[in-house]
Amino acid sequence: MPLTVHQFPCLSDNYGFLVRDEATGKVATVDTPDADAILAQLEKLGWSLDLILNTHWHPDHAGGNAALKAATGATIVGPQEVTRIAPLDRAVTEGDEVRLGETVFRVLDTGGHTLGHIAYHDAADAIAFVGDTLFALGCGRLFEGDAAQMWGSLSKLTALPDDTTVYCAHEYTAANARFALSVDDDPALRRRAEAVFAARERGEATVPTTIGLEKATNPFLRAPLLRPHLAPAEAFGEIRAAKDGFKG
Ligand code: ZN
Ligand code: FE
Repeated sequence: MPLTVHQFPCLSDNYGFLVRDEATGKVATVDTPDADAILAQLEKLGWSLDLILNTHWHPDHAGGNAALKAATGATIVGPQEVTRIAPLDRAVTEGDEVRLGETVFRVLDTGGHTLGHIAYHDAADAIAFVGDTLFALGCGRLFEGDAAQMWGSLSKLTALPDDTTVYCAHEYTAANARFALSVDDDPALRRRAEAVFAARERGEATVPTTIGLEKATNPFLRAPLLRPHLAPAEAFGEIRAAKDGFKG
């Protein structure tokens, strides 16, 4: 039985994700950017919250844990680092499984943006929730980890099947596309960038994306091709540093 994903914008550029295991009706939220917004969406859908899945400790991902737990009694699962700012019931790490009814999420350690950042992969439905690790045409800033760690994390994601649907936590795609065009003139990227700009003009979301589309067009994943004289992690680090200094 499939997993239904309800995606909605919240805060300034975050996405909220409410997911429902259709076999059992169990519901989870991926991250807690805005407790009031999540409660309003639950009310609208007629869903009740069973589980909170955190990707990392940043307030726009775990800041609503306490309020949502108080309002719903949901169990909170996430990386240990979440306890820096919020309650956590179960700490998980690479290889752990988290069940939502009949749906099984496998935890991937995707540190780099924060040291303990994790992603959740539902192989049966070909869905991954990647928080602030991989974005459409981008990747998370290295606030805590280094380029080698992040490259290792991104490599775990690109090892997933190409048809994996990737839910990233922010609508950053237009800005990412402007940077991508500054370092890569690949035709597939140019076509995608035009489609992204047009979609944003219409107010449409550019998330989710897929692993295959990101491998083909994301300059961070294409770093070894764009900087062939460097080792892959160093090539990635150079593209990441260029983005950090980019004034688009
Ligand atoms: Zn973050
Ligand atoms: Fe974030």
